[in-house]
Amino acid sequence: MMYNGVPAVCKKCKRTADATDFVLDVDYKMMVCPSCIKEKRMAKSASETQAMAQTEKQKQEEEQKARPAGWDKEDEYLEKAYKQRQKQKLTIEKVGDGIIMIVCPKCNYKFKYNIDRERPKNCTYCSEPVDEKALRYSLY
Ligand SMILES: [Zn+2]
Ligand SMILES: [Zn+2]
Repeated sequence: MMYNGVPAVCKKCKRTADATDFVLDVDYKMMVCPSCIKEKRMAKSASETQAMAQTEKQKQEEEQKARPAGWDKEDEYLEKAYKQRQKQKLTIEKVGDGIIMIVCPKCNYKFKYNIDRERPKNCTYCSEPVDEKALRYSLY
């Protein structure tokens, strides 16, 4: 090794490094010093991290766009509560004035319910209590 330990000036960064440490870089298309390679790698990973952050941001923005203008935390809470209510809803069928058919969420038995008198209080088949709160959600 003729040049072992011989300092050479990097054409790219003008720094001096051991000549034997120089590598031919495909991007720069020249012999560069180890510092240049290191810097290139760091820049690359930094831009990759940035790209990932960018994608994440874009995803969030798209989600925001899908929502109506003025969407905020309050709406988010309301939506959650609304979904929760939907889940709790009873399957009902209006059959007459103040009379509905309720499908019991527990046994699926269908029974008549009088809204005005709030009767029966329980499923006529399995005695599961009628969830009046859920019933109100279902009615309106
Ligand atoms: Zn260099
Ligand atoms: Zn039942």
